[in-house]
Amino acid sequence: MEIKVGILTAPHIEYEQRENTFVLKNVRIGIGFHWDRYEDQEFQGTLEIKSNPDGTETAINTIDLEDYLCSVISSEMSANSPMELLKAHAIISRSWAIRAIANKPHEQMVNGQMVNDFHVCADDHCQRYEGLRRMSERAVEAVRATAGQVLMYGDEICDCRYYKCCGGKTEVWRTCWEDIDVPYIRSVECPYCNPKHIKALSAHGERSFDFLLSTCLNNYDQETTDFHDWTVTYTADELSEIIRTKSGIDFGQITDLIPLQRGASGRIYLLKIVGTKRTEIIGKELKIRLWLSKTCLYSSWFDVCQSEGRSFTLTGHGWGHGAGLCQIGAAQMAAEGHTYEEILQFYYHGTRLSAAAQ
Ligand SMILES: [Zn+2]
Ligand SMILES: [Zn+2]
Repeated sequence: MEIKVGILTAPHIEYEQRENTFVLKNVRIGIGFHWDRYEDQEFQGTLEIKSNPDGTETAINTIDLEDYLCSVISSEMSANSPMELLKAHAIISRSWAIRAIANKPHEQMVNGQMVNDFHVCADDHCQRYEGLRRMSERAVEAVRATAGQVLMYGDEICDCRYYKCCGGKTEVWRTCWEDIDVPYIRSVECPYCNPKHIKALSAHGERSFDFLLSTCLNNYDQETTDFHDWTVTYTADELSEIIRTKSGIDFGQITDLIPLQRGASGRIYLLKIVGTKRTEIIGKELKIRLWLSKTCLYSSWFDVCQSEGRSFTLTGHGWGHGAGLCQIGAAQMAAEGHTYEEILQFYYHGTRLSAAAQ
């Protein structure tokens, strides 16, 4: 099975063809998030440069699915992660990708026109795919050891969503995406990603939280470590400016943020923004995270404390949408000796492993 990956769109794609690989220059990763940056990346498979209606170009890489997965697992998690975590990740990334191939093409707006000549993009919007330069032998080993295996619910391949850290409880589908019940994405209490849980174990000679992060996260994901429980404080002026810039709407001075609806974990999916000029109710979780930060808030699971409209403090938990597998929690489960089957059962309720139709 082959997958087509849209790696980047730019006014002009610069690349260098090598014997069995190609190098793309100035690829932007972590778009809009706090680790947003540019790097040169090297890929296997074939490269097609497509011209878009607005004169820009898109680099599309066609590659064997299993080779794609070797890069995805290396890009999402560090090579030093526990092997059972890497295997669990190979299975969920494969299941997700097979669904993406079967579904309608990835849609990308370029100058008001839809460009859709690939299945997935290469950034956090889909799955991180950063080519060969972060490729690790252990990630390759995990992909090979689970070759072709997917996660099933009934006779359906699961849409295995995942994220960095649940913050203590995982979320359900409808908080993040469509208003449907996805039976295997249930809310579960996850003690594993909590630094207190990990530190308590480290007193008995187990790994510490910092050690866990340093072994399972790639270098740029280690630049922030306070994501299980976090606090962000804005002055009213700062918050008003951020929301005006990110939303394109002039609310005037923001006077209140009122959570109206929360999902099973506590993540807000309907938030009332009250300004002196305008009031709006927004959702779901990602929009809330994008509008309340210069980049993107760690999560929409937060309480708001405001001091007479002069400052706003958001006290929150977790990093990511929270639906499906918690990467830090899964890494800790693996470190505590759980198998990849047990990890998958914990985060995806009622599922089973199966060999994929080739
Ligand atoms: Zn995407
Ligand atoms: Zn967790």
